[in-house]
Amino acid sequence: MRSVCVYCGSSSGAEPVYAEAAREFGRALAEAGITLVYGGGKVGLMGIVADEAMKHGGKAVGVIPELLFGKEVGHTGLTQLHVVKDMHERKKMMADLADAFVALPGGVGTYEELFEVYTWAQLGYHQKPVGVLNVAGYFDPLKAMLDHTVKAGFMRQAYLDLLQMADTTSALIDKLQRYEPVVVAKWSEHRKEV
Ligand code: AMP
Repeated sequence: MRSVCVYCGSSSGAEPVYAEAAREFGRALAEAGITLVYGGGKVGLMGIVADEAMKHGGKAVGVIPELLFGKEVGHTGLTQLHVVKDMHERKKMMADLADAFVALPGGVGTYEELFEVYTWAQLGYHQKPVGVLNVAGYFDPLKAMLDHTVKAGFMRQAYLDLLQMADTTSALIDKLQRYEPVVVAKWSEHRKEV
């Protein structure tokens, strides 16, 4: 695993524990020699992860659309900053550049990006690991909703199991490193039901 794409808040959150986790994650990537790929902003947890990765000698590659370059205060101190045309180009480039995907706490932008790569894994568009750093239980409601989705018959347990969840940076990176792609026959199962 040479690069990890991190999705996280353009805000820092209400509790200091979120910023602390972002710092720890950025540092851990640098120390493991793993390149950070992220949205290219300077604000919130996004900026913190990138600053910390750079501070500890790591590489950080940002991908930001023109429109957000001003709003998210594009980070100009990165190893590389790609300013792209739009969100589609941004998400495609981030996905192509990364060997794995991780969400740290964030808002709907973070959820959207996480769910996109998660559904792509489910559909077999990629076999890269997708993980969530459950800082101070932030993602417990997300886990509960996904359990509910499985119980209600809208998702198979195997898809839920694709999502790697851990409470600590080291446990999550370890899970991503050990991840073995699972091929789940989504559509053949659906055909059986009809
Ligand atoms: P947020 O988690 O809402 O603070 O947003 C974090 C990141 O997600 C930022 O880089 C935003 O540019 C990005 N983002 C915001 N809205 C969307 C969206 N609709 N689709 C994809 N990414 C988004």
